[in-house]
Amino acid sequence: MKSITERETQLRARMTELDAHLHTIEDALDETPDKDVEERAVERENDEVLEGLGNAELLEFRMIEAALARVAEDEYGYCVDCGDKITEERLDVLPATPKCQKCAS
Ligand SMILES: [Zn+2]
Repeated sequence: MKSITERETQLRARMTELDAHLHTIEDALDETPDKDVEERAVERENDEVLEGLGNAELLEFRMIEAALARVAEDEYGYCVDCGDKITEERLDVLPATPKCQKCAS
């Protein structure tokens, strides 16, 4: 069984990783070099993929932020809906999850 401190360390590490990657995406999206129409179309497609990825990562980032807030409030590991303890197995897979299996499904 993992301690809250271990979970917190894991969450913070993931957050740092996401933060770095989100900045990379931002930088890539910022690039607007002079290109012909065809190249621009390809770039636009890439941008959409990047944006999709960025949105997913931003969502995960926010989820981790909320999870860390629950750590600070001593509420981490408990379901925000029903208050039941979230199983260790579930936290192993989804350390930032705010809900137990029952409420999430
Ligand atoms: Zn629940």
